[in-house]
Amino acid sequence: MKNYSRICPDCRELISYVSEPVCMCCGKELPREEEDEAFCRDCRGRERSFKYGYALINYDKLMTRSMSAVKNRHRREYLDFYGEELFEKLGDRIGHMAPDIFVPVPIHRSRLRIRGYNQAEELSKILSAKTGIPTASDILIRRKKTAALKNLGEGERRKSLNGAFDTLRKLEKGERVCIVDDIYTTGSTVEACAKELLAAGASEVFFICVCIGCGRK
Ligand SMILES: [Zn+2]
Repeated sequence: MKNYSRICPDCRELISYVSEPVCMCCGKELPREEEDEAFCRDCRGRERSFKYGYALINYDKLMTRSMSAVKNRHRREYLDFYGEELFEKLGDRIGHMAPDIFVPVPIHRSRLRIRGYNQAEELSKILSAKTGIPTASDILIRRKKTAALKNLGEGERRKSLNGAFDTLRKLEKGERVCIVDDIYTTGSTVEACAKELLAAGASEVFFICVCIGCGRK
């Protein structure tokens, strides 16, 4: 099925795609008053374990609803649209990252039991089918069930994620890794995953996300 038949033109109009200029590290839209900056406020002056990454859509009210439906109302099929859209719009950029593998951000097994799927893994598998780059779901695991991070400040997020992820095996060949996730806000989740992947032997870590916190609203 062609991707454009998955969503009607009226709904497509409502999607706020990320547009330039963006942060060179996390890909978040830079607010108007910061358009000359290279990095957004979240990334400025902060050491990042990942090299850089990109996101597709601004995480506004519409996307909050859509992503919540994916996670809490079993709208697994929305991911087909988002996964294909990631490839259509960011496929070239993934090409430049030249990852050896995609690694989806894992969810805790209790959540997996309830939801039946990991949204990040579903997206990753679509990207794998399109690019031929494999999804490795057997490297990163989530040890700790973290509370929803959305109401926490950056410091609290980091504390909450401390020890949340672990790796099950080494990346013996120094693979280049592209982390895949559904939502990027301050970057604390991707950062925590990237740190573990580097410790396990990854040579470089990038990321790709469907949604990213709005910078220009
Ligand atoms: Zn940034």
